[in-house]
Formats: sequence, C-alpha cells, structure tokens
Amino acid sequence: MRDIIQLLPDHVANQIAAGEVVQRPASVVKELLENAIDAKSSSITLVVKDAGKSLIQVIDNGIGMSVTDARLSFERHATSKIKAAEDLFNLHTKGFRGEALASIAAIAHVELKTRQEESEIGTHLIIEGSEVISQEPAVVPVGTTISVKNLFYNIPARRNFLKSDAVENRHIIDEFHRVALAHPNIKFQMIQNGNDVFNLPSSNLRQRLSHIFGRKTDEKLVPVSEETEILKVEGFILKPEYAKKSRGEQFFFVNNRFIRNSYLHHAVVSAFEGLIKTDTHPGYFLFLEVDPKSIDINIHPTKTEVKFDDDHSMYAIIRSAVKHSLGQFNIAPVLDFNRNKEFDTPYHYSDKTPVPPTIEVDRDFNPFKEKPASSSSGLASVFRRPEREKGGAWESLYTGLQSRGMETVDVIPEKEIESKTLFSAENKGMGRISSIQISNKYILIPTKGGTMIIHQNLAHQRVLYEEFLKNITVSQAISQRLLFPLELNFSTPDIEVLEKIKEQLENIGFVFSALTEESVEIDALPAMISEGQVYEILSRLIHEIKEDFPGDGFAQNDMLAKSMAESMAIKTGTPLGEEERENLIHQLFACKEPTLSPENKSVFYIMEREELDRKFV
Ligand code: ADP
Ligand code: MG
Repeated sequence: MRDIIQLLPDHVANQIAAGEVVQRPASVVKELLENAIDAKSSSITLVVKDAGKSLIQVIDNGIGMSVTDARLSFERHATSKIKAAEDLFNLHTKGFRGEALASIAAIAHVELKTRQEESEIGTHLIIEGSEVISQEPAVVPVGTTISVKNLFYNIPARRNFLKSDAVENRHIIDEFHRVALAHPNIKFQMIQNGNDVFNLPSSNLRQRLSHIFGRKTDEKLVPVSEETEILKVEGFILKPEYAKKSRGEQFFFVNNRFIRNSYLHHAVVSAFEGLIKTDTHPGYFLFLEVDPKSIDINIHPTKTEVKFDDDHSMYAIIRSAVKHSLGQFNIAPVLDFNRNKEFDTPYHYSDKTPVPPTIEVDRDFNPFKEKPASSSSGLASVFRRPEREKGGAWESLYTGLQSRGMETVDVIPEKEIESKTLFSAENKGMGRISSIQISNKYILIPTKGGTMIIHQNLAHQRVLYEEFLKNITVSQAISQRLLFPLELNFSTPDIEVLEKIKEQLENIGFVFSALTEESVEIDALPAMISEGQVYEILSRLIHEIKEDFPGDGFAQNDMLAKSMAESMAIKTGTPLGEEERENLIHQLFACKEPTLSPENKSVFYIMEREELDRKFV
C-alpha cells in the first residue's frame, strides 16, 4: 500500500494561510499598522505606492525587535503577544495569531529594519516568498520599518484580481482611518505616491475627527457618553441633519479595535428613528469598552467581526445612550419659544421644487416718498423677484414666493404660526412684525418677554445655507438661462478644482457649456445669483477648496453651501427696508436651525425684560 499523505512545505502552507489574512493591499496596511501600535509607537508613517501594489511601508518609533525576534517574527504562529490559550480571553493587543508577518512574507518581497533602544546596532532582514535572502547588522533608528513590495508577485491569479488603484486606495484609506481614529494620541502620517495625504498630530478624538474628515466636522458632532457595569460607551454621533444617502461614517470600536456588528449598528439606527429620513444613514464614531473576557474576537481571521456575551444589554445601552445625546441636542437650540414642528419641515420638501430665498434690498427706498422707486439696483437685482404691486398689505410680502408656485408648499402658513409663537403680544392680527434696524447691522424685534436682536448677515447666511444644502442634495434648483453665455477665465489649477465640484454646482443651478484649461463658459445660473456676482463667488469657493477640501461627499456639499451662503448673504452695513427685514425674519424662522449661523455663531440674542429691568435699578 502506498502512503499518499504529505506534510505541506512551510512556504506552501504560508501561502495558503496568506489567502486568509491578506485579501488585498489594505489587509497588509492593517496588519502592519496594528503591529506598530502593539509596539507602543507614538508616531507612525504609512507610505503607499500604486495603491499598495508596488509598495506598502510602515515606519514606527516603537520598541523594535532583537536580532533573533526579527528573524522569528516571520515564522508562522510566532507571536510575543500570547503564551497560552487563556490569554486569548484577556487580549489587550491587536495581534495575537502570529501569522500576519509570515503570511505577508510568503507572498511579497519584504524588508525589515529594526532596533531596540538598548541595542546600538539594529538589524536588516530581507525575505522573499518566505525565503530569507539576507540578515545583516545595520545602523537604523529605534523602532521598526517594514517595506512590503510587489504584493502577490508569486500568485498571479490574486494579483490580477486586484481592483483598480482607486478602489484599492479607498480600502487602504479606510483601514488607515480606522486605526488612526482608534488612537488619536498617536501621530499618524500617510504618504501616497509621494504626496502627503494625511498628517495627523497627536490629539484628542474630536480633533482627530476634524483632521480626518475636514475642518467643519467639529460642529456636526454630538458627544455620547454612558457608563454601566457591563459597558462603557464614549464617542460622537453626527447630528441628524448630516445623515447621508450613502453609508459612510459609521464606526464602532470595541476596546479600541474597529469592528462591524450589524446588531449594534441597528441599535444606533433605531435611536435615530423619526429624526432622519428612512433612506438615509446616521453617522457615528462610538467607542465601546467591555471586559476582554466577555468578547470573542477570534471568530474571524481578519478580526472585524466580534461576538459578545451579552449583546442584548449592549443593544439597549447603546440605543439609550444615543437617544439621550440626541435628546440633549434637540433641546439645545430652543431658546424662549416652543420649537414648533412646522419649523422643522423644510428638508422634507425633497419632492417639491425648492424656492430660492428672496431678500429684497431696495437701495432707492425712501420712506418719505409717496411710492418707493420701482427700479432697484445693487443687491436688489440679485434677489430679483417679479415686479408686483406694492399694496402695503401683509399678503403682498409673499406674492414673490407665490408667483413661483410656493402656494403648494405648506410652509406658507408660518406667518400665523410665527406670529403666535414669537410675536403674539406685539403682532396681533395680520402677523406683521414690527422691527427696526440699527447700525445697518442688527434687526430689533419686540417679543413677548423682551427684545430679539438679530444679526442680519448671519441670519441671511443661515437662510441661504439651508437653501443651498437642500438644492445640492435634491438637485432641483431653479436656473436662469443667460442671454449670452458668460465666459470667465481662471488658472488651470483653479479649473481643476471647478471640475471636481461641477456636479454639485450643477445641482445648485449652474449650467456649464464648456470647461477648457483656462476658462469656463456658463449658460445658466442659479436663480438667486446675478451675473455680476458669479466670478467672486466661484473664486472664493475655489480658494476655500484649495485650502481644505474634505474627502467625503457630504462634507463637500456642506462646505460648498457654506461658502456660497457666506459670499451671498447681505452684508453688514446694508440698509434694509421694512419688508426686507420682515422677509428675512420669516425665512430665518422657517429654517431648520434658526439659532445658529452655518459657522455655528449665534444668529440672534434675546434680551429678556428682566435683564432690561436690572439696568434701571
Ligand atoms: P501578531 O501581531 O499576531 O503577534 P505578527 O505576525 O503580526 O503576529 O507579528 C509577529 C511578532 O513580530 C509580533 O508578536 C511582535 O513581537 C513582532 N513585531 C511585528 N511587528 C512589529 C513592530 N512593528 N515592532 C515591534 N515588534 C513587531
Ligand atoms: Mg500582528
């Protein structure tokens, strides 16, 4: 009888194991970054070339390895992190299987340089396809640098199945984000094809989120914090209005390790129920801390799936922690009036045609003239509105809106709601709001219990911002076709920026007929922008984008809306007539969040009567 069973040679076994650990370049990135963290590094640099297909390098300043450990680290089941099976239930490190380096070395050209602090000389090791090519003493800094070149060079089938560079890069960046978010105190840098794409200083979580997702992230965050016997939850959720159509910023970390868990995900989603539209997804960055004994991370080789002993309680705790934070956030913006549900409606009009906000600024307005001049200049032409009879009656304030079909949108009855909730004592009947402007900057309105002081520029920014954001996301803005196409000249890098945001601009109402290397030709403009303003608005936008353009789509839209709102809002120093003030006030309180400007400054201040009284004692 012939024996047919053989033991697989090590390099073959390693190649097979590699298939489990290394699916794509991003898997290597994850393993190397985690090793660097386990090595107690305070600064980690990731270098990637050609989406990791030609080079993935991780440089750390951690504890390094001895000459022997350097060699051993590439053996299968070689780990310094667990000694016995029981240790598996008390894990405080990322790695423990001892197979990452062995697997990677089986399918790539690997170079390792490492030194421990106590040794003067380090070691330099080269391994190709599990075979040690050389190991020599070397003068290297304390810490470890591992370079992985030509991934899957000996498994063409896998190499051919890699996706485009764009897709593989996306996976790499996702891994980088996960690791960097879990360790905000560690400095991270990422260099992609020679470009410095992320430079994250040591910071706290809140700052790290802004460093990764863009400067404007901070104002979208709501903190979550809950501690119970079985679970501690810390982190942030994104305010409901930043829920996205596409799944995006959803991060769970358990004991500082990124995990996926659809059950716990559901706990968060259910806490947002009723606050976001059904087809949108909330954003969250939640850090769970549990006793390592109560989880089994070992159920999946790449360790993003985790099993918990008591996931029912975890579900309940997470859900209530998120609800609690949402509750606090919802109360915060309300000042001295009951937040009326009607005020929260504008974003639900996605199926209706959005109406651009109209603020009338009539420079020629003279209160002493019998009839105000009907021709207007300057800003008035920006907020153009069909000519109408100026009857002086309350209704006429809305004729501009109605002529655009606004009557089908039930936001109109607000004039009653507002007059009741905000201005009832002083504004009986028609809902007229008596207001005065001071310093061409503030609008003063007597309210029930005192005086409301509105900052006109910030108020208008809020109005425009919400309008733009809505237009960008539902892309139903109204365009006005130009008689002659408008040609504007920009530098080539500026044009490249414009190309990046072309789609969003089109959603707002821009129509581009040509985009050459140095000019754009515009056929139509958003209804609320005049030809004279376009250049200034686009230039500002380009400038801001060059300074800091967030990576993800939502943050981009948000930034566009803010920039345009800031460029176009009526400026401090602009005199406003009675109707303009009134229009602005109504539009402001039809906003989702009337209390804050897009940059989170207070839009208005209410001086209580008692406060006034105190001035006269
Ligand atoms: P694991 O992380 O599961 O232990 P790896 O194959 O990833 O297995 O690494 C094997 C061993 O090599 C680790 O246990 C550690 O002792 C050592 N090692 C790997 N990377 C580093 C590094 N960057 N700095 C110091 N030691 C490292
Ligand atoms: Mg490891």
